[in-house]
Amino acid sequence: MLAGRALCYPAPMTLPDAVSLVRTLVAEPSVSSPDPAHDQPNRRVIERLAEWAEHVGFRCEVVPLESDPGKANLVATLGEGEGGLVLAGHSDTVPFDRSGWATDPFELTETDDGRLFGLGSADMKGFFAAALRAASKIDTPLRRPLVLVATADEESTMNGARQLLAERRLLADRAVIGEPTGLAPVRAHKGILMERLTILGRSGHSSDPSLGASALEGMHAALGILLEVRAALQRDHRNPDFAVPGPTLNLGRIEGGDSPNRICAKCQLTYDLRPLPGMDLAATRARIRSALAERFEGDALDFVHESLVEPVPPYAESPDASLVRDLEALTGRAARAVMFCTEAPFFQALGMETVVCGPGSIDVAHQPDEHTSRSQLAEAEALYGQLIHKSCGVS
Ligand SMILES: [Zn+2]
Repeated sequence: MLAGRALCYPAPMTLPDAVSLVRTLVAEPSVSSPDPAHDQPNRRVIERLAEWAEHVGFRCEVVPLESDPGKANLVATLGEGEGGLVLAGHSDTVPFDRSGWATDPFELTETDDGRLFGLGSADMKGFFAAALRAASKIDTPLRRPLVLVATADEESTMNGARQLLAERRLLADRAVIGEPTGLAPVRAHKGILMERLTILGRSGHSSDPSLGASALEGMHAALGILLEVRAALQRDHRNPDFAVPGPTLNLGRIEGGDSPNRICAKCQLTYDLRPLPGMDLAATRARIRSALAERFEGDALDFVHESLVEPVPPYAESPDASLVRDLEALTGRAARAVMFCTEAPFFQALGMETVVCGPGSIDVAHQPDEHTSRSQLAEAEALYGQLIHKSCGVS
């Protein structure tokens, strides 16, 4: 007896096959980039997805981003009630270098072996095709809702996912992020901090060091401190699930001074730090900051330590979570950790069990000749169908 629970009886609706859906999505450019010269709206992709989702019976909400009204998230819900399953992906792609492509990046091109080339085919427009196709085949009542989410700006700021979290939308009990994992369940990844350190000194004639304070020499000391902190972080934190088991800190770019005969007044470094799950981002930053503060206290040099972008937190789901177990059983693949970041920590922070599992390979993403395959799309469609069945109580 299901008293008090609304039932949804969607009629199976016909959608074009998954390859046709991906072809349409790939043809709609949706590049996101921190560089305004490359950044594009994602509205056309969101509108396409909403149109198909409505056709299947979803109730669609298109929510503009507060950070950029030209972009929007889609939240589409099928069925009523509490709990259920979120299938989530990002609608944007990275920028592209057309000269590196053998085919038109906006025209899905199939080879004889069933590979499908196009920008975003793996990361991650193929996911939406598989998820929508799976939803379109539901022909029995849903006891819990199925929610399809398409976010904006994952490849640049993650502002779409950040806004979902800020809105505190209570979406479901469990969430699958369909990033390309070759349909292996992924239950952990590191976070990203991108930081800038500026050492401020005073310029002067190089012939007399007392006339200035060298920011370059200060940076020399600061680099040593960063490497010491890195070694300490790697001693304190280790997780053998990761191919690189410790946190990393990469010195990415340095810039300072202008002339051999001037004392350098300003030197700037950018670096990224990849914390492991369980590491506290604020505490990690504070550790670096206090080591720098100790060195430069009472010195003629000063420093500014700031974040370049909002950090992405590290993410880990329990190996015993029911969603991890279900996906391991359905795919026959053990859950693992990966090196790339996703929106998973934002969905998990909304209180959902969260696993990353989607068609295609990350190895071909973010580069020319990105591709997925017919077989991955078909496997994903079948997998999501089974998972909807398990999660939404299709009877
Ligand atoms: Zn992606």
